[in-house]
Amino acid sequence: MPEVETRRDFLKKAALATSALAAAVPSLLPAKDARVRSSAKLPWHRRTLRWGQTNITEIDPTRYDIAWWRQHWKRTHTQGVIINAGGIVAYYPSRVPLHRPAQYLGGRDLFGELCRAAHEDGLVVFARMDSNRAHEEFYRAHPDWFAVDATGRPHKAGDLFVPCVNSPYYDEHIPAILREIVERYHPEGFTDNSWSGLGRGSICYCENCRRKFRARSGQDIPRGKDWNDPAYREWIRWNYDRRLEIWDLNNRTTKAAGGPDCIWAGMNSGSISGQCQSFRDYKAICERAEIIMLDHQARSDATGFQHNGEVAKLIHGLLGWDKLIPESMAMYQAGRPTFRLASKPAAEARLWMLDGIAGGLQPWWHHVSAYHEDRRRYHTAEPVYRWHKEHEQFLVNRRPIASVGVVWSQQNTDFFGRDDADLLVELPWRGITQALIRARIPYLPVHADHIDRDASQYSLLVLPNLGAMSDAQIASVRRFVEHGGGLIATGESTLFNEWGDPRPDFALADLFGAHLANPQRVGDEARRKRKANDTAHTYLRLNPERRARVDGPHIDTEPPVRDERHPVLRGFEETDVLPFGGVLEPLRVDAGTQVLATFVPAFPIYPPETAWMREPKTDIPGLILNSTAGGGRVVFLPADLDRRFARDNLPDHGDLLANLIRWAAKDDIPLSVEGPGLIDCHLYRQPSRLVIHLVNLTSTGTWRQPVDELIPVGPLRVRVKPPPEVRGKTARLLVSKQKSQVTADRGWSRLEIRSVIDHEVIVLS
Ligand SMILES: [Zn+2]
Repeated sequence: MPEVETRRDFLKKAALATSALAAAVPSLLPAKDARVRSSAKLPWHRRTLRWGQTNITEIDPTRYDIAWWRQHWKRTHTQGVIINAGGIVAYYPSRVPLHRPAQYLGGRDLFGELCRAAHEDGLVVFARMDSNRAHEEFYRAHPDWFAVDATGRPHKAGDLFVPCVNSPYYDEHIPAILREIVERYHPEGFTDNSWSGLGRGSICYCENCRRKFRARSGQDIPRGKDWNDPAYREWIRWNYDRRLEIWDLNNRTTKAAGGPDCIWAGMNSGSISGQCQSFRDYKAICERAEIIMLDHQARSDATGFQHNGEVAKLIHGLLGWDKLIPESMAMYQAGRPTFRLASKPAAEARLWMLDGIAGGLQPWWHHVSAYHEDRRRYHTAEPVYRWHKEHEQFLVNRRPIASVGVVWSQQNTDFFGRDDADLLVELPWRGITQALIRARIPYLPVHADHIDRDASQYSLLVLPNLGAMSDAQIASVRRFVEHGGGLIATGESTLFNEWGDPRPDFALADLFGAHLANPQRVGDEARRKRKANDTAHTYLRLNPERRARVDGPHIDTEPPVRDERHPVLRGFEETDVLPFGGVLEPLRVDAGTQVLATFVPAFPIYPPETAWMREPKTDIPGLILNSTAGGGRVVFLPADLDRRFARDNLPDHGDLLANLIRWAAKDDIPLSVEGPGLIDCHLYRQPSRLVIHLVNLTSTGTWRQPVDELIPVGPLRVRVKPPPEVRGKTARLLVSKQKSQVTADRGWSRLEIRSVIDHEVIVLS
């Protein structure tokens, strides 16, 4: 009776998770809702839930209407503001040498006036720095503080010069500014727009770098990029470590000057590749951060609004769910193309905010410039913020529920992805997560170092082409499967060590039930990239076929032999082949495995007369199922359907991925949402209740950004399995303000939502 087992497993996990939750957030148990957050003595960075930023331009000191903006803070129920203070230019009269005043500052102390106004209104202030560039007079005064290329020429960004992270600019100049601002204005903390110096694309050869790198490694700075050169790898690690030193130094400085809660929080990106390019080690940063200020302002066509909810969960997985992640959300036309002074269509800005809030982000409206002729932007945040204030108790102090964990690591993006992280890492990730979202299956990103920590909440782990894994990470996956957990691995997962060096075989070959037939080819990077990039006219043959005949057209007179097909092929009864596009190579397959799809090699598309399969059947596996002694179900998918789905959007690929996920998780999925549309679903637990976000992305799935019209969908039938402490008998709808009839039956609660325009939040208690 798999259903009974599933239920018991879920209860056990739920009980474990609840006790862990109570231990993590003691204020949760007595629970007068989340009013505790404001009433308890939480530090400011844990209770400031709504943020705003007017990013000051250098002309603004002549026209900044502070009274008007105070009204805007009030209208939007903003609790914290980010105010430009110093860095490239100062918005206050600074005494730090070479800290140049903004062009039109005149004698005005704009930062001081704004900081005072905010404090008078009861708002907290993040003083915003930008410590990544300097003007020419600074460079002339201290040429040895600036990054240079191999010929000694300074690295420049436009007219400005880029300081070297290993110079006194970061060790002395920035700390002096931080101290001055704390002593004079007492902001609650500091952010920094761009704090991590020169990115990975450029190498600094200044004297400071040469000396420090030699002291660490005994070697010269590498001449250029070579991922296989140990010196280059060491240079990468050294750069990561230096950014953490800067993080720690800035925090020591601000705390020494302003007290233990006067933190420096930098800013971080919503893209792991972006963090890699900037040498920002997300996991290490989150281990030392009190709050993450997320600079991730708009959606891309490739990843959609759903990326915002996902990145929220990924960062919370590192940071913890008791800390906050405000996200800069552009009210101007950010992205492609960017128009700083034009309003973003309200629907586009709104869905980005709502999906981020669904994932656990705090909103942070962001305008560039204090004066606008396009005033439509001022109306975008207000209704979202008003709703957020009214329902804030449901939006924090909560833990996500998901039975599927998708594994990632930044080291994999660096050392397996190298210069092609989009192709090798991000596309496979996106294909898996998009298949999950499309099937409305709740999931969480799980860092490869956190598998042991988080394993108890998952029924299934997915490795989306996770090539580079350490032995310890491999061992964690193995333990998870030995305890009965399910596993899906795709493509080249486990085929490389943490530096991206090839292994002789898949490290989990015994679980996959498959082994490399030609291990010598693994190191061929150019070939790997070509295979991932190209689309060939290839297919996958589903096994066993519905009928044995492949040598001629099928004649549909006999009844279909459906029971020959494995449940993961459900929905494909009327086809024996699926479009593929990739290229597969032979593998050695263990006895006892099931090969459910095999490769059909490329044949011509054009002219049509030639479009017939030359080799309709091979034994090259595309999909392998295995089961383990511990009872875990393992899927190995050599066919890169994850990457293909992200790129080609063929529903067959998404459907097959969803089937595989359900099977390997033994159908232990705590939520089901039926009805039309693309709905991003997020499920959370609070003491004695569940919170379910449904974000309607249907309008956005049909064409490119920006979306300017919201199209309602419904009715939606929601089925959820509440944990034991939740009765699951009544439901409140926080957006449509309706009550919904709940039917509780055999451990499931069922309800219907008539219609969702942009989002709905269900509170089930
Ligand atoms: Zn340098």
